[in-house]
Formats: sequence, structure tokens, C-alpha cells
Amino acid sequence: MSSTTPTAPARRLLIVGPPGAGKGTQAARIAEELAIPAISTGDIFRDNVSQETELGVLAKSYMDAGEYVPDSVTNDMVRSRLAEPDAAEGFLLDGYPRTLDQVEALDGMLAELGTPLDRVLLLEADTDTVVERLLARGRESGRSDDTAETIRHRQNVYAEQTAPLVEVYESRGILRRVDGMASIEDVTAALREALAP
Ligand code: AMP
Repeated sequence: MSSTTPTAPARRLLIVGPPGAGKGTQAARIAEELAIPAISTGDIFRDNVSQETELGVLAKSYMDAGEYVPDSVTNDMVRSRLAEPDAAEGFLLDGYPRTLDQVEALDGMLAELGTPLDRVLLLEADTDTVVERLLARGRESGRSDDTAETIRHRQNVYAEQTAPLVEVYESRGILRRVDGMASIEDVTAALREALAP
């Protein structure tokens, strides 16, 4: 079905929310349902770190400190990923954009591709809960940026640099808020509803 069909769900999507809100889990579920790629900048960085590429070596120091990788690096990475054929009919960006400069860069990329953004999904969750979730994930998965100090710092970086994006997308009328504190199933159902035409 073509993405211009009026009854089709939105397919050019972003998911935003604080670290630990469940973006990765939900992005994978929604992307599978819509048969579009979930593009997680965090995952792409982690792949590069584990393969010890030049990009990975650069990204690792920022990630371990809970800081954002510089915009120029991140924007170039996303530009080439969005140009891949599997993203032509839709995509779900997870963890990008995270700064106002990245919003502007993404606007430029999408203008070049002739594909406007359909919807921005904001996964809301309270800080105490997400911190608990990330501490548990750190214990279970050993993710190197899930330590108490880095988790706290990442929440602050989100509040300072990423939370302002909400207003930008809200003013464009494409933001939808979803409660990320419910069960995984219920959150997916709410996101599905938020994507209805
Ligand atoms: P995530 O898996 O989305 O929590 O990302 C893990 C880490 O990767 C972040 O703390 C940043 O260091 C880096 N990262 C991921 N996405 C971005 C982005 N859009 N801009 C800058 N850094 C990012």
C-alpha cells in the first residue's frame, strides 16, 4: 500500500523520550508492524564501538561519559543511513534528533529526499522510574553507560538538550504524547493509536 493512501498509518516517524523510557523496545515493535526499519543512532554507535571502527573509537568516549556525540558526526551517519533503500518507504528514528541542530539537519535531509516527517512520538516517563530501569539494565546487560553517575548525567543532558525538541514538533502539530509507564503491550497499543491517520 502506498504511503499516500489516506487510510495508511504514518510511516516517517521519530520516537523521543528520556533515556530508559523504553524507546528501543517500542521502536522495534512498531517498526516490525509497519515493516519499516527502526534506526537507532545509539545502536549504530554501539555496533561501531564493538567493531572498533574509527567512528566507534570517537563515539565511545562521549557515550561512556553520557555526553552526546558531536552533531556533525551524528548527522553524517544518519544522512547515509536514510539514503539506504530500505528507508525509502518509511523509517522510525529512535534517539535522533536529540539537539536543535540535529532537528535542522534532519529537516534538510528530508527536504532533499522529498519526504516530510509524519509524526513524532513522545514516550513520557518519570525520572525515578527510568533511573531504576537503567540501573537494572546496567546490572543485566553490562551496558557501559548504564552506571549510576552516567545515568544521572544522561537525564540532565536530555532535559537540557533534547526536551526543547518537544515544543518544536508540538508547534508543527505532529507530536503525539504516549504514557511510557504502562506495560510494554499497552504502550505499543497506545503508540499504534497515535499513528492512526
Ligand atoms: P541511546 O542508545 O539512544 O541511549 O544512545 C546511547 C548514547 O549514544 C548516547 O548517550 C550518546 O552518547 C550517543 N547518541 C545516540 N544518539 C545520539 C544522537 N542523536 N546525538 C548524539 N549522540 C547520540
